[in-house]
Amino acid sequence: MQIVKNFIDGEFVDSVEGKTFDKRSPIDNSVIARVAEAGQADVDRAVRAAKAARNGVWGGLTTDQRVDLLYGVADEITRRFEDFVAAEMADTGQPRHVMTHVFIPRGAANFKVFADIIKNVPTESFQMATPDGRGALNYGLRVPKGVVGVISPWNAPFLLMTWKVAPALACGNTVVVKPSEETPLTAALLGEVMNKVGIPRGVYNVVNGFGPASAGEYLTRNQGVDAITFTGETRTGTTIMQAAAQGMRDVSFELGGKNAGIVFADADFDAAVEGIFRSAFLNSGQVCLGTERVYVERPIFERFVAALKQKAEAVKFGRPDDPEANYGPLISDEHRRKVLSYYAKAVEEGATVVTGGGVPDMPAALAQGNWVQPTIWTGLPETASVVREEVFGPCCHIRPFDSEDEVVNLANDNDYGLSTTIWTTNLTRAHRMAARIEVGITWINSWFLRDLRTAFGGSKQSGIGREGGVHSLEFYTEMRNVCVKL
Ligand code: NAD
Repeated sequence: MQIVKNFIDGEFVDSVEGKTFDKRSPIDNSVIARVAEAGQADVDRAVRAAKAARNGVWGGLTTDQRVDLLYGVADEITRRFEDFVAAEMADTGQPRHVMTHVFIPRGAANFKVFADIIKNVPTESFQMATPDGRGALNYGLRVPKGVVGVISPWNAPFLLMTWKVAPALACGNTVVVKPSEETPLTAALLGEVMNKVGIPRGVYNVVNGFGPASAGEYLTRNQGVDAITFTGETRTGTTIMQAAAQGMRDVSFELGGKNAGIVFADADFDAAVEGIFRSAFLNSGQVCLGTERVYVERPIFERFVAALKQKAEAVKFGRPDDPEANYGPLISDEHRRKVLSYYAKAVEEGATVVTGGGVPDMPAALAQGNWVQPTIWTGLPETASVVREEVFGPCCHIRPFDSEDEVVNLANDNDYGLSTTIWTTNLTRAHRMAARIEVGITWINSWFLRDLRTAFGGSKQSGIGREGGVHSLEFYTEMRNVCVKL
C-alpha cells in the first residue's frame, strides 16, 4: 500500500499529530493508500513556508527565471507521464484514455500556457495633462497576491489543481494546495516534480485532509493566506467565502452546474448524439460542464432518445487499464449513494426510465466498486429534483421543445449558470442564443473544447470570477498604479 505524506517546505512529511486516513479504490473499494492528514500545526507550517518563499527566493526571481522553471515543470510532467497516468487512474478509476487524452496532458499544458502568458502580457499606461502643461505618466505594475490557498475537487484532480497552481506560480505567488481527500496521489507526485526541476522549497506545498474541522478549513481560516481559489460544490463555496471574509481575502470560485444541452432538428444528428453522449456520460458524468438537462426539438425527439439510449447501453464497464473497457465507476461509495438516491427520487417523481437507473452486474473482483449505470429519463416536469439539482452522475433528463424562445427560457430557469451546448446548423440562431443563455461558456456544435487562453467560469451560482488566459492574472496578481509627474 502506498503512503502519501504532506509536502511542506520541499519535504514529504507526516502530520505532527500522526493522523492518517485511507484512500480507497473506486473500482473495488480496497485501500490503496494511507494518507497523512494535516492538522492545524501542519497547515500553519505550510503557510509559513509559502510566505517565507514568497518573501525570499521565489520573490527574488525575475519573470524569465520563473518561466524557465515552469517550462521545466511541464517537461518533467511529460517525462513522468506514465507515473501521472497510473496515479490518476488509481485515484479516480476512470479509463486510461481519459487520463492520456485529457487529464494529464492538460496538467502539463497548464504550466506552459501560463508561463507564456506571464512572459508576454503588457501592463497599461496612460498619459495625462496637468495645469503646468508638463503632464504626467501613469503606468501599471503587476504584483503577486502572496500566498494562494488552492482547494480542489476529485473529478479531474490533476487538471483542475494545476489550472490554479500554474497561473499562481507564473504570477510569482506561492501556494498551499489542499487536494480532495478522494484524490491525493497526483498532488504528491507534483511535489517530486517540483523538487526535481529546482522549484525552491516552500513555493509549492500540499496539505492533505478533509474540509470542515480539517485541512481545508484550517487553510481557508489561516490569515497568512492572501487569496483563495476553489473548485467544488456551491455549498462548500459559501462556507469558504465566509472564512475568506475574515481578513478581506479575495476569492475565485469555480462551482457546480446543471447545464442544458440543446439539440435542434436541423443539427447534424449523429454529431449531436455523440456530443450529448459525451457531455452527459464522460468521466461517468462527473464533469462540472456536463449536461444533465437535454432539450431536443420535437420532430427528432423520439429518434434522438432512442439513439442516445443505444449508446448508453453499449458502454463497457471495467478496470481503467482494461483495453476492452471504456467506462469507469463513481469516485466513492458515498457519492454512489447520493447518485442512486437521485435515481430513486426520479422514479418517485414520475420519470420514465429510458435506460439504466441502477447498478450493473460486475464480476466478483469488482463487485464492491462504485459502479452505476448511465441513466436517461424522460417525462419529468421542470420542477423535479433531477431536473433542478446537480446530481454529478451519469444521467440526464430529456424533454422536447417547440421554439427557440421556449428553450432559452428552459435553459435559463435554473440557479446555476456554468455552460451550455447547442447543436444546430443554423449558426445565426446559435449566435443569437449564445448571447441570451445565462452561462459562462457556450459551446456550439461542440463540448469541452477548451482554448486555455479564453475566459473560464460560471454565472449565477456557478462561480465568481474568471480564470484562463489573461483573466487569471486578474485574480493571481494585483495591479498597482504608479503616477510620475513629468
Ligand atoms: P466539494 O465542494 O465537496 O469539495 C471540494 C474541495 O473542498 C475538497 O478538497 C474538499 O475537501 C474541500 N472542502 C470541503 N468542505 C470544505 C470546507 N468547509 N472548507 C474548506 N475546504 C472544504 O466538491 P467535490 O465533491 O470534490 O467536487 C464536485 C463539485 O465540484 C461539483 O459540484 C462540481 O460541479 C464542482 N466542479 C466545478 C468545476 C468548475 O470549473 N466550475 C470543475 C469541477 C468540479
